[in-house]
Amino acid sequence: MSYDVAIIGSGVVGLFIAYELAHYKVKVLVIDREVEPGFGVSKGHAGVIHVVQPPFNSLRSKLAVDGNKLYDGIARRLHVRIRRLSALLVARNPIQLIALPAVWLILNRVYGKRGFRVRILGPRGLRRSEPNVNGLGAVEVEGYGVINSFELVSQLYNFCRLNGVDFALSTEVTGAKVLEDEVVLVTSKGVYRTRYVINAAGLYSADVARLFGDEYRLGFGKGAMLVFWGEQTRNIVAPLQLIPNPKTKGGAIIPTVFGTTIWGPSLSIGDRGDRSVNEDDVGVLIRKFSGLLRNRASRQ
Ligand SMILES: Cc1cc2nc3c(=O)[nH]c(=O)nc-3n(C[C@H](O)[C@H](O)[C@H](O)COP(=O)(O)OP(=O)(O)OC[C@H]3O[C@@H](n4cnc5c(N)ncnc54)[C@H](O)[C@@H]3O)c2cc1C
Repeated sequence: MSYDVAIIGSGVVGLFIAYELAHYKVKVLVIDREVEPGFGVSKGHAGVIHVVQPPFNSLRSKLAVDGNKLYDGIARRLHVRIRRLSALLVARNPIQLIALPAVWLILNRVYGKRGFRVRILGPRGLRRSEPNVNGLGAVEVEGYGVINSFELVSQLYNFCRLNGVDFALSTEVTGAKVLEDEVVLVTSKGVYRTRYVINAAGLYSADVARLFGDEYRLGFGKGAMLVFWGEQTRNIVAPLQLIPNPKTKGGAIIPTVFGTTIWGPSLSIGDRGDRSVNEDDVGVLIRKFSGLLRNRASRQ
């Protein structure tokens, strides 16, 4: 079978690429070894549409902002639930409180001119915005969002199917032969011919790249999240980190579109197949977030 474009991976990245291509006259195939689309990392994330994404001068940071601004239109077109809210970085001690203006200055310089309002909340402002949050003050960044990521993946898939994209699920790409004017993809279910290949294999993208003679290394980590019934905060709330960790944004207390609350994710060492959650993962999250909430009874 012959295609213009073959996308390896039907996570949120592969599906969004297929969604864009479905608007053009191109024959597109999405291949995934899982039985359903979005069954890789995309089935287990917190659904946050971010604004702040260090390092600030990176392509990743720019794309986070550009992507954020596209989400309302996409959610409307695909009937996916989305909710706009702010992120509050909360000062818990006097040193963090003194640092708030500097944090505001940096974030406002970067994100203010990209169209996101950044402001400082004193103790009263914080109390008004977040009656259940314990803190001396906060920096608020507007323009965050939370989305129903399950709906997003299934609606992208439905749109693609209805608009002529083919899917080969339960199909693993195991080899590739690059010929002069086409690529032959060898899979567990036979051979596909295509003019272009897009590698959207997520954690396995370096393995797929190796099939084409390209070498790079990915570092892996494991993220755990706790999910609670009921809403604990109105916005995304995180303790202010004065020394950012380049490997993680640090997690937060996140109100979801389902009326539940997520704490996390954490980041710990783990190989890419490790989906276990142990006592340490849970302990890290409880130590980090429980002190941020005033009303312990609201934690269910
Ligand atoms: C705990 C946690 C919380 C997160 N929270 C957020 C958040 O709030 N906001 C946010 O923006 N991001 C979040 N992320 C990150 C986000 O989930 C990922 O960046 C995103 O899901 C990656 O999508 P993807 O399509 O690249 O990868 P995946 O969803 O993993 O898709 C890759 C697909 O490729 C397939 N594949 C791989 N190799 C092959 C092969 N050889 N043949 C066939 N198929 C193959 C896999 O089966 C898989 O389905 C979170 C991540 C974690 C772990």
